Amino acid sequence: MNLSMLFDISVHRHASKPALIGSKKSYTYKELEEEVNRMASSLQKLGIKKQDRLMVILKNNIENVIIFWACQKLGIIYTPVNFRLSIDDFYFCVKDIEPKVVVYEPFSEHLVKKEVFAERPILIGVNGAKADISYEELIDQGTSSYSRPDISYEDIAMILYTSGTTGVPKGVPRTHINEYTSSLAHIIQCRYKTFDRTLLAVPMYHVIGIRSLLAVSLLSGSAVLMTEFDPKDSLQAIEEEKVTCLFLTPTYYHDMVYHPDASQHDLSNLHTIAYSGSPMSDELVRKCDEIFSPQRFVNHYGSTEIYTFTYCEDIRLKGSGGKPGIHQNIRLISPNSRPDSMSEAEMKEGEVGQIVINMNSVEAFKGYWNRPDATRDAISSDWYYTGDLGYFNKEGNLVVVGRADDMIISGGENIYPFHIENVLKEHPGIREVIVVGEADKRWGQIVAAFIVPEDPSLKVQDLDQFCKKHPQLSNVNRPRKYTFVSEIPKSKTGKILRRKLREGFYEQI
Ligand code: ATP
Repeated sequence: MNLSMLFDISVHRHASKPALIGSKKSYTYKELEEEVNRMASSLQKLGIKKQDRLMVILKNNIENVIIFWACQKLGIIYTPVNFRLSIDDFYFCVKDIEPKVVVYEPFSEHLVKKEVFAERPILIGVNGAKADISYEELIDQGTSSYSRPDISYEDIAMILYTSGTTGVPKGVPRTHINEYTSSLAHIIQCRYKTFDRTLLAVPMYHVIGIRSLLAVSLLSGSAVLMTEFDPKDSLQAIEEEKVTCLFLTPTYYHDMVYHPDASQHDLSNLHTIAYSGSPMSDELVRKCDEIFSPQRFVNHYGSTEIYTFTYCEDIRLKGSGGKPGIHQNIRLISPNSRPDSMSEAEMKEGEVGQIVINMNSVEAFKGYWNRPDATRDAISSDWYYTGDLGYFNKEGNLVVVGRADDMIISGGENIYPFHIENVLKEHPGIREVIVVGEADKRWGQIVAAFIVPEDPSLKVQDLDQFCKKHPQLSNVNRPRKYTFVSEIPKSKTGKILRRKLREGFYEQI
């Protein structure tokens, strides 16, 4: 069994159905297979072998998808890199991969510096990028025949990097069986149907992009490619291409639903909208409901390492991360536990604990690429330590409240930023607020609040009075420092980069 078999099923059963819909060209499953085979035969002629690593620095274009499937047919490890990372993080990933091949476009040409590679890779250019050989030449020279290697379901299909929210991104090897079962889980959890159509808007270097592509490919459905996400174009594509399901991060939804044209589009073909990557505010949930009116509104809580921890079938009813995913078994243990610590007290209902996931499942994560240190910090024999904190509410749904590393310990008390942020969000003069711990000689850490004001005349004294009087804020939880900033640093997919605030990377106003 290997991932390319998913694609073969659709080719054999529904060859004339649209597989990829791009802005300039579209491919049926048959046409896609022909081009994938040509690419596979050319890659084989170049001497690229099973488990070699092929790095792509590409947007979500047809060439990227064709290379992805060619890799799966040959057992080559597809390794997409986030070209929006900081330069240091980007080159960390490039060196970490040690690729045999690098594929890039003109926009990423300047990032391909030969001196960073220990062994010079073969360079393939897409859309006219200068390289050793072009994508078009490989397609022209390719034939329909190549020898298919034996690929085990435990071989690595791709390496996806984590978002780098808490530090340097970590490479996560994803096996064929991991990806196959995660895609099946997504289909079941979101109740996708045969011939569903999705928008491939989240970049393919992110697990959400890959999941969107694989889920519809299994169902002989279509992926509508958004080379570069634009809210207006996306709304138009959903309407014109009759998109039926979306899987995006909250930021993509935010940009679409607050676009002035949002309510003018016919989005009635959408039956399911799903999100993952970060929490969605109640206000955004309401706005998405109003604009998209989906039958199902699914929250997926998961990560690059393990695709789903929990999911909530209808975020409108439950307002939480929901119950464990179809392969998962979850425990909550004391917030500071590490895989080597002996104290793993179970939390009671309503008590905040660290979320750990049992790994006796087909979705098991065996460790990071080249990172034995990070692997030791994340895995004990049977359990994966997510590093996230949460609690089970009365209905048995998991509520995710933040990351264990963001927990503040002041004078020996555990303080959860979400608790203080929720209180401060009630203040009408605040647009956004993030709370972090700041080192303090006496208390160990103090609570520091970063505020994007709604009201330009907002004063620190007002906030301090508000917190002093608030019944849900004890003295130890009260911020001891307020900083007014122009914006909260976030990644492209909308993750809040608290470490930037801790390290002083913000614009004070
Ligand atoms: P790094 O590990 O490099 O710091 P990262 O943890 O952001 O980056 P990802 O694998 O992209 O890497 O993200 C997984 C994390 O995103 C989860 O552990 C959790 O903190 C957060 N997350 C994902 N989905 C949700 C969700 N639905 N609700 C709340 N948080 C979520």
